[in-house]
Amino acid sequence: MQHNLAHAKALAPNSKTWSVVKANGYGHTLKGVFSGLSGTDGFALLDIGHAAFLREYGWKSPILLLEGIFSKDDLDECLSLQLDVVVHSLKQVQWIENWLEESSGPQQDAAFKRIQIWLKLNSGMNRLGLTSKAYVEAFHRLHVAGFAVNHLTHFANADDVNVLPTVDAQVEMFNAVTQGLSGQKSLANSAAILWHRFTLEDWCRPGIMLYGASPTGRYKDIEHAQLKPAMLLRSEIIGLQNLRKGDQVGYGGRFVAQRDTQIAVIACGYADGYPRHAPDGAPVWVASGDNLSQGGICPIAGRVSMDMITVDVTDLPSAKIGSPVELWGDLLPIDDVAEASGTVGYELMCALAQRVPINIVS
Ligand SMILES: *Cc1c(COP(=O)(O)O)cnc(C)c1O
Repeated sequence: MQHNLAHAKALAPNSKTWSVVKANGYGHTLKGVFSGLSGTDGFALLDIGHAAFLREYGWKSPILLLEGIFSKDDLDECLSLQLDVVVHSLKQVQWIENWLEESSGPQQDAAFKRIQIWLKLNSGMNRLGLTSKAYVEAFHRLHVAGFAVNHLTHFANADDVNVLPTVDAQVEMFNAVTQGLSGQKSLANSAAILWHRFTLEDWCRPGIMLYGASPTGRYKDIEHAQLKPAMLLRSEIIGLQNLRKGDQVGYGGRFVAQRDTQIAVIACGYADGYPRHAPDGAPVWVASGDNLSQGGICPIAGRVSMDMITVDVTDLPSAKIGSPVELWGDLLPIDDVAEASGTVGYELMCALAQRVPINIVS
């Protein structure tokens, strides 16, 4: 993560960096990401409780709440934790105004200094964000209330130039709406940092690239981008079965042996966050004997179950009970596993289950 953050910063040398650690640091846990990403300028996340954890760890620099407040009452904590807050709706503007009215004078003054607002423009993604008319209204209302107001939008297709709205169109709208308004700007996610560097502005917001996976979900797109995988999911072989041609494996008998086949049973299943949709043929890296780096890719054979997966190790006869296995990591890119299962690395990381023992290496 340290390496990936340094790389993101090198690509955006004139911008500050919000390291996006929502969803529990994309599944790496806040504790797990904290030291690797401590060189960041700020952290961005959703959950006020998680912001409080970062403050407890001693983080004194900015923290951005990406979806802002969910009720007026959240503002007390935003103030005490000194958070930067996204405002994406006029409802949130109203909560802030009401909260200020109810607060006494000194608290108001403190609020202006401590809470920075990031207005979020819907520039074409049509998920969260204010329309251009509401945006200008919100800007003026919050400005009149005395806040520092900054500008933010999010790209729908920075990872794919063939889909509308394009990055260019979103930037054009963002510039048109924010023209002449004071405040800092933030637009770029990982894909924009990698592939649309004219969007970097004051603050960029890398997420997935910090964890060494591809915004597109395809490993080949970041193969040469100097990123390193942050999460290594590893287990080992706990059983072997020798099948005759025609024998079936696991629930539903999905895999049918086309030859005499050796099946290895690995201690990892969908209760650990391994995708149950992984089809026969999805890749698993299996060690040769005890030597993980000398192993090879073996195909999944049979349905993923709660606690186990089964792989065909016929072509890797050195695999034995106790042989280590990498489900994803630096020998097998998480994007390759995700692609085989019809998803993206983001989802696999975030779905890593609580029961998986985490070994934080720093
Ligand atoms: C998740 C998120 C990001 C980070 O996106 P990546 O594709 O992981 O780089 C940036 N900005 C916002 C608003 C987000 O929700």
